[in-house]
Amino acid sequence: MEKKKIESAVEDYLKRQGHERLELKAAMFDMDGVLFDSMKNHASSWHRTMAHFGMDLPEWEAYMHEGRTGAGTINIVSMRDRGRLATEEEIRQIYQYKSELFNQCPKAERMPWAYEVLQKVKECGVVPMVVTGSGQVTLLERLNRNFPNIFCKELMVTAFDVKYGKPNPEPYLMGMEKFGKWSSLHDRGKDLSPNNFIVVENAPLGVEAGVAAGVFTIAVNTGPLPDDALLDRGANLLFHSMQEFCEEWERVWGCLAG
Ligand code: MG
Repeated sequence: MEKKKIESAVEDYLKRQGHERLELKAAMFDMDGVLFDSMKNHASSWHRTMAHFGMDLPEWEAYMHEGRTGAGTINIVSMRDRGRLATEEEIRQIYQYKSELFNQCPKAERMPWAYEVLQKVKECGVVPMVVTGSGQVTLLERLNRNFPNIFCKELMVTAFDVKYGKPNPEPYLMGMEKFGKWSSLHDRGKDLSPNNFIVVENAPLGVEAGVAAGVFTIAVNTGPLPDDALLDRGANLLFHSMQEFCEEWERVWGCLAG
């Protein structure tokens, strides 16, 4: 990617948000489809689950719903296919079935080049964070095993923290709040604002959440959707893989550090 393109993306962002410059302190990474190559498993589990319950959710569409709560996705499909919302009991059953199928899938691998990106980010003095709608109890342990010495518990936002899923900006707003607390405890500065952060997202609704939180949002298109699905939600920059993002990091950092 040309340096000019990155510079103009930063300029556009600053103008729109009314900041003078980006002073990057923390990078909020989404997890599924960014740090782990897990979206194929989610998409096929959703598709097979809905078929089991007599509804239709094509795999590609599951990528469009990524980031929503389970109940949110189930209700959209139920309205469309049955003309009504699902009952609480149906939501419980459907979501449980989906989770069981997902757990039977082969364990998702670490996304190629994700660790390299995280290491580069950290070496620049930027603090890597995880902001995910996922709620596995073993999440931190799994992150630490796959990405040693990168994340800390205080700087994670998971399904246990948030009420609304993406595209609501809540998860990213909460990420900024958590970083603010951590930062003042560790003498890394107070009075933070969205221009102290970036968001790294693979999903359209995740991009929407990052943009709604006022944060410079980098899309990494690791799935089957067209780039426009992410750009149309307001992504400031787009890369086609974590490898491309990694290879461009120095250039990106040069522009983000102002
Ligand atoms: Mg994702």
